[in-house]
Amino acid sequence: MSNQYEWSYDNKKYTHDDTAPIGCDDCASCSSCCKKMGDTILQDPYDLWNFCSNMKVSGGMAVTFDILVSEDGPWELSYQDGVILPNIKMVEDGRCPFLNEKGRCYIHPIRSGLCRLFPLGRGFEDGKVIYYVLNDELGCEKKDNPRTPVNIKEWLGIKDIDRYEEFQSKWYKIRDDLRNRHDLCDEKTFKDLQMRLLELFYQKPYDKDFFWDFDKRVKEWEDSLRNIV
Ligand code: SF4
Ligand code: SF4
Repeated sequence: MSNQYEWSYDNKKYTHDDTAPIGCDDCASCSSCCKKMGDTILQDPYDLWNFCSNMKVSGGMAVTFDILVSEDGPWELSYQDGVILPNIKMVEDGRCPFLNEKGRCYIHPIRSGLCRLFPLGRGFEDGKVIYYVLNDELGCEKKDNPRTPVNIKEWLGIKDIDRYEEFQSKWYKIRDDLRNRHDLCDEKTFKDLQMRLLELFYQKPYDKDFFWDFDKRVKEWEDSLRNIV
């Protein structure tokens, strides 16, 4: 088993058409998976677009990346394997700021990709997305409950799953490529690239057609790489 899937529960790899043992008694709502997650709930450009397209700040103003990562915002920036990326910023007692008193997510319809996945992990093989069930160490706290089989596409509830997975593969490659460049360029150049990544894929507001706009930015990113390194 490759390192990427070391957290697999059943040593199986799934596609979105498969059924996997992930249903947790209709989710017993202990909300453990929304607490004490530290800086691990990363937010990708699709999450940003989805959030900003559906939320407004008081006064009806559009939500922007800068608002989300501001001091009072629900996101923060952190180093993730050497690359600066945004994640959900847990509040004082380690809870997600979007978790309500009843242990429910109040942004459930627009929750981020990682929230939708749990207790699945996501991997990439030959440019395609594969899924695996997280093992007991990382997975659902109610691990002793019977795991009911659920279709992965339905579990994720993402409309255009094929385009979404294409986006995920490209985004994974971009981050991986940036990490690998760390040893190939000096600190200043690497920092410039990190800033460019945040500016291009997060700061600049997205078009209605996210996937189309993202692809356009991938080309710009590739041009930046050619010019810088
Ligand atoms: S830890 Fe498991 S049972 Fe608890 S909320 Fe998360 S998925 Fe549901
Ligand atoms: S956004 Fe919702 S689903 Fe995700 S960790 Fe927060 S409360 Fe849980």
